[in-house]
Amino acid sequence: MDYPEILCRGLLKRCPRCGESKLFHRWFTIVLRCPTCAHYFERDAGYWSGAIALNGLVTGGLFMALLAAVLSVTWPHVPTIPLFIMAVIFNVGFSLFFFPFSKTIWAAIDYALHPLEPDEVEESYELVHLKEQMLVKHGDADSRDID
Ligand SMILES: [Zn+2]
Repeated sequence: MDYPEILCRGLLKRCPRCGESKLFHRWFTIVLRCPTCAHYFERDAGYWSGAIALNGLVTGGLFMALLAAVLSVTWPHVPTIPLFIMAVIFNVGFSLFFFPFSKTIWAAIDYALHPLEPDEVEESYELVHLKEQMLVKHGDADSRDID
């Protein structure tokens, strides 16, 4: 298993298994299964709690670095109100921006540390095979995503 490649796929909002990039319907909505390899993302109940924790850690870590920089420049006359406004805007804005990345990074970490079970491999193989049969039968490649 190529761990750096899997992590890079997560950082680029791609499927950790095959590298497919079209995983989000909108900024916040990830597909249930990868449209290419049929990898099922939500592998367990509460699966995305890891992505939420990752988002909080990255956002909080960056904010602490930003706060330390502002405090080191402005101490002892810290602009409290502008700093508070900046804190709210940064923490809300960055966590919303980072939301899809946190999901694919978490999926990549999980895929690297928790390899697919045989039944997961078999299920995705069957779905990909079924999709290919439907495409051959109907000749419509774009309207039949695996969801
Ligand atoms: Zn995939």
